[in-house]
Amino acid sequence: MNLDRNPAAEPGKKTRNGWTCGDAVSRNSLNYLASNLGIQYGRPEVEHDVKGIYVYSPDHKTKVLFEGEGHLLNRKLAPRRQVKDAQKLGVEFMWGATAERLLAEDGFITGVTGRDSEGDPFRATAKVVIDATGSSSVLRRFLPIESYIEREIDMDDIEATGRYILEFDRGAEDETYFTPEYCLIHLDQYIAAAGYAWVFPKGQNKVNIGLGVSKSGLDRRNRRFNKQDNLQSLIDEYVRANTVIKNPRLALGEADEENAKGNWQVPVRRQNDCMVANGFAVVGDAAWLPRPLDAGGIGPSIYASVILGKVVAAALEANDTGQESLWGYNVEYMKTHGFQMASFEVLRRYLQTLTNEQINYGMKHFLSEEDIQAITDRKHPDFNRTQFFNPAMWFRVLGDLNLARGLRYTAKKSQTLVTHNLEYPESPGRFTAWRDHLRAELRETVEKFKPLDALQ
Ligand SMILES: Cc1cc2nc3c(=O)[nH]c(=O)nc-3n(C[C@H](O)[C@H](O)[C@H](O)COP(=O)(O)OP(=O)(O)OC[C@H]3O[C@@H](n4cnc5c(N)ncnc54)[C@H](O)[C@@H]3O)c2cc1C
Repeated sequence: MNLDRNPAAEPGKKTRNGWTCGDAVSRNSLNYLASNLGIQYGRPEVEHDVKGIYVYSPDHKTKVLFEGEGHLLNRKLAPRRQVKDAQKLGVEFMWGATAERLLAEDGFITGVTGRDSEGDPFRATAKVVIDATGSSSVLRRFLPIESYIEREIDMDDIEATGRYILEFDRGAEDETYFTPEYCLIHLDQYIAAAGYAWVFPKGQNKVNIGLGVSKSGLDRRNRRFNKQDNLQSLIDEYVRANTVIKNPRLALGEADEENAKGNWQVPVRRQNDCMVANGFAVVGDAAWLPRPLDAGGIGPSIYASVILGKVVAAALEANDTGQESLWGYNVEYMKTHGFQMASFEVLRRYLQTLTNEQINYGMKHFLSEEDIQAITDRKHPDFNRTQFFNPAMWFRVLGDLNLARGLRYTAKKSQTLVTHNLEYPESPGRFTAWRDHLRAELRETVEKFKPLDALQ
């Protein structure tokens, strides 16, 4: 049984503002879905294709191509397709049902209670409850049994994000602002403090445009520049500054209706260190799966849900849905996709401390082809150009020694964290020691990269 608080006509709607997302997903992620589940997405849920993502430095002078080919989804239509596919397999849906609390018995989760579309209380029981209610999950927060699942996230690990879906007339021709062939990401601590801004094409004259900031990053930026901007005023300023987008209007066709303007939050830390409990698992944004560097959550959610589906099916067949029986989801996700996320959390924390000048300098002088390839492959870059053993780079390293040192530190720390994550315990017994070690490593980086000092 699948519960969704939305009516049947609006599956997957995140909030009253719609299906708020940047809509970008890599081809690899959709291929993974196709090869594991036999589900091949096409038009209309895939709206546009791109060749990759260019990331621009704040001065627009350096661009680097990350990622291979990808797609822009229509997030309003994609869940309709998902529902159809699931119904074909016999999955039942209960619409308009808001889950409010988990039910528990003898240390096991046994179901949920909530309100139906009439506001009347309901109760549903299950052998396993999977929480896929997104970043504001109340189920995880009020998990009523003992468990290793973390219930709360640090406010600094959340980005406030928002975007428009716009149709527009073409003004200037400037590929640093818009091209139908590539997604563009703009790093800029003034317009997207401690986050980033994006222009993702959805056609020749259609765009998903928005940005994300961390709350404390925005506060710092406002203090520094004596401004009182908020997320929405920054998005509006970003759209106005785009020289290609002229006469923008909200996309109002049926496929975009009630979805052209929206703000929502994204978690940008590593995944929850443990994602299962007796009779319970978390997935998607509820499990903090989006990648810390770019807040891309669709791909990780696809990978994790395929793994989780297999683990839960095996647990049901074995008639054992306890924590130990579901543990393979933690292990498999960590070993295949999650092991790099803590490194990216550290790199994100460091990048948030940098000024625009440092980002300009670092992208121009320190990013090598190998680093770019590493990020594309979802690995932490080595930043070898920041090494002193490379005499050709001495001059550049001395140009910003602190930056070079910071990048080198993140690369070294990444090796430690990846090694540790690949030693994720195969069963719950060793979990606490493993987690405490991870937390100690990460605490050191939080102390080291205090953004407040750097940007003031
Ligand atoms: C502005 C923005 C831009 C983004 N850009 C990208 C991008 O370009 N690429 C990318 O990969 N990721 C992007 N992300 C992240 C991506 O949108 C999420 O990672 C993804 O949507 C997570 O899917 P989910 O199913 O876990 O959660 P959600 O999409 O949030 O879905 C949660 C579902 O649960 C329902 N629900 C919630 N609470 C309850 C309840 N109590 N009872 C019943 N139902 C409930 C909701 O109504 C909704 O249907 C972006 C996010 C934002 C906000």
